[in-house]
Amino acid sequence: MFPARRHRATAVGAAVVLLVVAACASERDVPEVPTVSIPPAPSPTASPTPIPEPSPEPTFDREARSIDDPASIWVVVNKLRPLDPIDFTPPDLVTAPVSATNPATMRAEVADALVALFDAARVEEGIELQSQSAYRSHATQSTIYANGVAANGVEYTDRFSARPGHSEHQTGLAVDIGVPGGECSFQACFGELPAGVWLAENAHRFGFLLRYPDGAQPIVGFDYEPWHFRYIGVELAAEMHEQGVATLEEFFDLQPASDYAD
Ligand SMILES: [Zn+2]
Repeated sequence: MFPARRHRATAVGAAVVLLVVAACASERDVPEVPTVSIPPAPSPTASPTPIPEPSPEPTFDREARSIDDPASIWVVVNKLRPLDPIDFTPPDLVTAPVSATNPATMRAEVADALVALFDAARVEEGIELQSQSAYRSHATQSTIYANGVAANGVEYTDRFSARPGHSEHQTGLAVDIGVPGGECSFQACFGELPAGVWLAENAHRFGFLLRYPDGAQPIVGFDYEPWHFRYIGVELAAEMHEQGVATLEEFFDLQPASDYAD
């Protein structure tokens, strides 16, 4: 027992001496240590940061407006979805104060959006646009369709011209857009003009949809019409643009409408 005790006493004594020496040294020579900047230690990645509960994505309410009511800006009209009533007349038709070859008649909300669209094309790109056809009554569409059939037959006419009651132009929400001078008016080549390119890329910002995209005939029922824009409101247009969904039929999970039922 004794030897062990003696060893411990010696060790304690040595420790005290060392401490005193160290203390004296630190008082005498104040830092001559070159300062070295030490990068901050990386925050430990392994620390269990709690993964937040995925907050539910705010989902777009597809039922916020009717797609059946012809007075709704979301109404879907195609070869399988006639307007109801078939001779529907929009409630608030006005003439949009824009360059036009035919009366730029359309619903008031659409007129405001069209003015903003045309202004933006002019300001942003120096592009002048023109309304070439807008609201068409059931009677007018009947005449247009009948003339088409008389000249070219039913099959050909149905590719380009809606039967009365099936035209978006009867809703007061559709506008055929061209350029002053009429270059490529109502022709596929309009889509390649600067005006057509700009419209395809920017119409959604103002609530318009290029309603009959290239290659979508089996879904929408009409050949490519880069001039035909349908007002659906900024909210829906932005959502479709963001999702990359090109047609109303796909967005609302509707039956493709390549042709009339009868
Ligand atoms: Zn049209």
